[in-house]
Amino acid sequence: LRQATADRKVVIRDAHAAHESVDRIALARDLSRAVANGELFLQYQPKMHVRRQRVAGVEALIRWKHPERGLVLPGDFIPLAEETRAILPMTLWTIRQAIADQAVLTSHGHDLRVFVNIAGVLLSDARFVEEACAIVADHADKIGFEITETSVIRDPESAIANLKIFDDIGVHIAIDDYGAGLSSLAYLKRLPARELKIDKLFVTQLTTSNRDPLIVRSTIDLAHALEMEVVAEGVETQAALALLSVMGCDMIQGFLISRPVGLNALITYLQDERHTEAVEDSRATFNR
Ligand code: C2E
Ligand code: MG
Ligand code: MG
Ligand code: MG
Repeated sequence: LRQATADRKVVIRDAHAAHESVDRIALARDLSRAVANGELFLQYQPKMHVRRQRVAGVEALIRWKHPERGLVLPGDFIPLAEETRAILPMTLWTIRQAIADQAVLTSHGHDLRVFVNIAGVLLSDARFVEEACAIVADHADKIGFEITETSVIRDPESAIANLKIFDDIGVHIAIDDYGAGLSSLAYLKRLPARELKIDKLFVTQLTTSNRDPLIVRSTIDLAHALEMEVVAEGVETQAALALLSVMGCDMIQGFLISRPVGLNALITYLQDERHTEAVEDSRATFNR
C-alpha cells in the first residue's frame, strides 16, 4: 500500500510538472511572437541626482501585454526568454524603442540618457554585440546598459571584452543589483562600468536595519574609489533618502521619486518642477 501511495504521489507530481511544462511551452511560443505582434512596451523610471536635485537619466523596464493573460512583468518572462533565444530580438527591439523614445524626450527639452537592461546570455553573444553596436552606433552617448555581475561570471573573458566594445563607443555601463548576486571584486575591478547600482535588498530597510547602512556606506566608498557613480535602487522613504544623501550616494531610484511610468507620463513628470520636492524635503529633514 505504501508503495502504491508513493507511486500515486509520483504520478500526481509528474502530472503537475507536465502541466507546468505545457504552460511554459505555450508561454514560450507566445513570447516568440510578442515582438512581431507589438505586445511589448516600455515603462521608464527616473534616476534622480541627489546633490543636483535633477533627473540624471532614466531606466527602461519592459512589460508584456499578453492577449489573454493581461500584463506580464519581466520577472515572469525574461528567464524564459533567455532560455528560448527570444531574448535577442526582444532586446534589440527594446534598444531601438529606447532610442526612439530618447529622441522624443530630447524634443521636449529633456536630453537624458536611457538605460536598457541587458540579460547575461547576451553579453557573450557575438550576434547581439554586432547588431546592438549597429543600432546604437549614432546614439551611443544617449544609451546605457545595465548588467549584473552574475551575468559576467558566466563567461567573464568574453563578457568583459564585449562590455569594453560598448564602453569604447560611448555606451555607459551600469552594474545592476550590486550585492544581491554573485559578486567578485576581481571582476568589479576589471569591468568598464561608470555606475554601480546598489540592490534594493539593502535599501528598502536601510533605516530600520543595523547592518544595511554599514553595507551601503562601504559600497558607496568602494564604488567612489573605483571612480564609479552610485545609484541606490528601491528608495521608498524620505528617511532612506536623507541617510543616502549623508552617505554621499550620487543618485537614487525608487517609488519615492517615481514608479515606472509610460513615456507620456514621464514627460509630464519631467515638465513638473515639483518633482524635485522629495529631494528638497530630505535636505530639510537632514538640516533640522
Ligand atoms: P531591475 O533592473 O533591478 O529593475 C528594478 C525593479 O525594481 C523594477 O521591477 C522596478 O519596478 C522595481 N522598483 C523600482 N523602484 C522600486 C521601489 O522603490 N521599491 C520596490 N520594491 N521595487 C522597485 P520590474 O520592472 O518588475 O523589473 C524586474 C527586473 O526585470 C529588472 O530588475 C530587470 O532585471 C528585469 N528587466 C526589466 N526590463 C528588462 C529588459 O528590458 N530586459 C531584460 N533583460 N531584463 C529586464
Ligand atoms: Mg536595471
Ligand atoms: Mg536593479
Ligand atoms: Mg533588481
